[in-house]
Amino acid sequence: MKLSDLGEFGLIAQIQRLARCTDPAVLLGIGDDCALINTPTAVLAVTTDAMLEGRHFCLNWLTAHQIGARAMTAALSDIAAMGAQPRFTFASLALPPAWPATQACALAIGLEAQARRFGACLLGGDTIAAHEHALIDIMAIGECGANIWRRDGARPGQVVCVTGDLGGSAVALAARIADLPDIACWQRYAEPTPRLEAAAALASLGLVTAAIDISDGLVQDAGHLCERSHVGICLHAPALPISPQTRLTSQQLGLDPLQFALGGGEDFELLLTAPPEFVTELQHNLSIPLTVIGEVVAGSAVTVLDENKKPLEVPTQGWDHFTGA
Ligand code: ADP
Ligand code: MG
Repeated sequence: MKLSDLGEFGLIAQIQRLARCTDPAVLLGIGDDCALINTPTAVLAVTTDAMLEGRHFCLNWLTAHQIGARAMTAALSDIAAMGAQPRFTFASLALPPAWPATQACALAIGLEAQARRFGACLLGGDTIAAHEHALIDIMAIGECGANIWRRDGARPGQVVCVTGDLGGSAVALAARIADLPDIACWQRYAEPTPRLEAAAALASLGLVTAAIDISDGLVQDAGHLCERSHVGICLHAPALPISPQTRLTSQQLGLDPLQFALGGGEDFELLLTAPPEFVTELQHNLSIPLTVIGEVVAGSAVTVLDENKKPLEVPTQGWDHFTGA
């Protein structure tokens, strides 16, 4: 069997079976956006995220500063998904020696500035030479408050909400690949924001029951939440928040923005569940939109309904690094 047959999540499941940890300080190991470690003063949320040149970024599309900031954002977004606030980060860089030194420095400046912007320090890392493609691996450590979000707390009858808007990052990337000039939603790809401010505001209320960040695509990440919570999720396609810029760019490409909203990765929005009676309170405590996009149901799958409440075929299920689909 090839790794492409096992798939990214098949391999992670195998690693999870090997890595059984009985240390009482470990509150949560593999399987969520972060691991949770109990310390005498706080619960720490810890994550690591890698970005590879050619796969996650391309040097002629983004500045080195943006590439560094995006890599940091991916890790900070996992901290936000736990309702935690970032404190400490580490950056391991594998860079081709032929790179201009200024480019490598700009990448480091970008990632450090993004950590600093969200209240975290860069405390270390590792630096090695790469043969061809640059690799950036960021580790982030966050501090949890009284209410810690996990993927396993969703229950039937609760609603599913999402912060911000969906699909912009994937539409922008498709537009760049298609060489479209003036991509209206380019910022959503080039300079995504980890939803830490929203996480801080919402976690303090203690009303969110489960959360995950959308890094692989809405349907796929909703599926991870279902798996961990042993529930199904029913999403309503007409309710998905899609920005005018994303719609415009999709229209220019002749493509349906809904497919990007459902399957496009790297939006770094938060998918949250909560009892329906608390939605208004959650929305009032945020400076960005929080949209109800579906509900938690009994079952195990993600279904998407169209405007006539008919199930939609969902061809794009997000990203698997080994199967490439
Ligand atoms: P996310 O998209 O939130 O970063 P992933 O889908 O990458 O999460 O990973 C899912 C879970 O599997 C996480 O708990 C992550 O720490 C764990 N994981 C992924 N790769 C490995 C690995 N090589 N070794 C151990 N754990 C891993
Ligand atoms: Mg995540």
